[in-house]
Parts: sequence; structure tokens; C-alpha cells
Amino acid sequence: VAQYDCFLADEAATLNLGQALAAHLAAPLVVWLEGDLGAGKTTLVRGLLRGLGHHGAVKSPTYALVESYRPPNNSMEINHFDLYRFTHPDEWVDAGLDELFHPEAVCLIEWPQQGGSHVPAADLRLALSHAEPGRQLTLSAHSAHAAACLHPLDL
Ligand code: ADP
Ligand code: MG
Repeated sequence: VAQYDCFLADEAATLNLGQALAAHLAAPLVVWLEGDLGAGKTTLVRGLLRGLGHHGAVKSPTYALVESYRPPNNSMEINHFDLYRFTHPDEWVDAGLDELFHPEAVCLIEWPQQGGSHVPAADLRLALSHAEPGRQLTLSAHSAHAAACLHPLDL
């Protein structure tokens, strides 16, 4: 497991990290976004989508469960999940979320533990925690493919 730590001093730093990561993403990829409410998970996804050239809004999918994006000039589909409101892991099955994991998909999952064993294993784990006034981020790669996404970041 390749692991890196970095301190994100403010919201702009979280957006920049997401944007830097975007440049090296390749599908298929499963990314777990870990951390408390307000840790910066959605902010990081927003930076990543901006880095891929998405200029529209990036809504928190807390109510919708998932928001999907097709960035311009790219065959990838970005699926951004938020399982916070799950009351049982089997809601994963009821919502038919498995079909969003396909060869062209980069799946970014907030609150993955809420889906229990239904959630595909992480290639990449991004764990954010409050380190006021900023955030601490630990990035870990659990596949060779994911390690290749992190290696160019110069962390
Ligand atoms: P989550 O999705 O983890 O619940 P959000 O991405 O919605 O959290 O972020 C919550 C708040 O944290 C936002 O107001 C955002 O501006 C702020 N934030 C994000 N990154 C940082 C950072 N590195 N330092 C300080 N505040 C941050
Ligand atoms: Mg969020």
C-alpha cells in the first residue's frame, strides 16, 4: 500500500488537490472518500470535476444518493455517491448502484461504510480529517493502477 499525507490549509488547497488528482485518473477506479461531516469530501470531488473540465454545479448527492457526470473530451463517467442517509446497507441493492461500476467509470464514494459489503473494494482511499483551521488528508493506493494515479502528484 502506497500512502501519502498532506495538509490542506484551506478550501482552495482541497480544490487544488482534487484538480491535481484529476489529471492522472483513469477508469475503472473506485475511490472511497472517508471523514466526518464537513471534512471536505464533496469539496475534493468538486475540485476533481473542475480539473476534468466540468464547469457546472457539483451538488452534494446526499439526497439523490448519486450524481453522474460526463466530463467533456473524455470517455470517463464520474459517479459521485453519498451513502450518508442509508439506514441499511441493502439500500445499495434496492437503488441498483452496482450498474454504475463499469469499465469507463470512476466512482467516488462518500460514507462507503454505510453500504457494508455491497460497496466494491477501494483502489484509492482518501481520508480527510479536521485539523483546524485546515484539513489533514491521507491518500492510500490499494492497487497498482491507483498507485500510478498518486505517483505523479509529488506529495
Ligand atoms: P463533506 O463532504 O466531507 O461533508 P464538504 O466538502 O461539504 O464536506 O466541506 C465542508 C466545509 O469544509 C466547506 O465549507 C468547505 O469550504 C470546507 N473546507 C474544505 N476543505 C477545507 C480545508 N482544507 N480547510 C478548511 N476548510 C475546508
Ligand atoms: Mg459531502
